[in-house]
Amino acid sequence: MSFYLLDHPNPNGLSYSLTRGEPIRGIVLHTAENVADTIGPDGGAERVASYGATTRRASWHVTVDKDSIIYMLPDRMQAWHVVGYNSSTLGIEQACQASKWKEYPADWVDATITNTATVVKQWCELYDIPMKRISRDEYDSGKRGILAHADLDPSRRSDPGKDYPWDLLFEKMETDMTEFYIELEKLVTESGGNARSLFYTLELLRGLAEGVSIPANVPRAVAEAVLSPKHTY
Ligand SMILES: [Zn+2]
Repeated sequence: MSFYLLDHPNPNGLSYSLTRGEPIRGIVLHTAENVADTIGPDGGAERVASYGATTRRASWHVTVDKDSIIYMLPDRMQAWHVVGYNSSTLGIEQACQASKWKEYPADWVDATITNTATVVKQWCELYDIPMKRISRDEYDSGKRGILAHADLDPSRRSDPGKDYPWDLLFEKMETDMTEFYIELEKLVTESGGNARSLFYTLELLRGLAEGVSIPANVPRAVAEAVLSPKHTY
């Protein structure tokens, strides 16, 4: 599995920490504040990722837009996305503006939130984080959960916005992906013992993934298993 910030070393120096100070127990939602690309193929996440590879001011774990999920950093690395809470959180940037959720086309919002939900749900499962928004006070008291950047830095940040579609996000996260997982895991298992078929599986997923972007409906664990360099052929 590739990570954008590792593949594109920042010419200005490291913009994240290689290790974490604490175990992961929170997920922070952001908007990148770029102009959303709502017409045709969405280049928003690609541009935000590219910005992330050159700025030293911030870093985060995943960037999403309507048609891309770009993994920026391994979860084990500490991104710089939320003052005071980086060591125990994962950060996801959605390629749009916090103030404009009500202005974006409904299909763009739906597709983008689907991608966010895919990533956040996988994180919840991996790190035993309840699929629930919690307050800063709750987080400070040791609870696990999902927060807005604005919840943790209210004097400086408003993202992902007062009109952020939280209900839609949780609705998407509740969608059962079990069958999809089973199908894809079968594909990986079946191809695992066979170099030729593994090659085709890999090419198929790479084709789907268009480089570093992995489509929303490919569960992260599966993509990671297939794209992992431990499979040599
Ligand atoms: Zn933010």
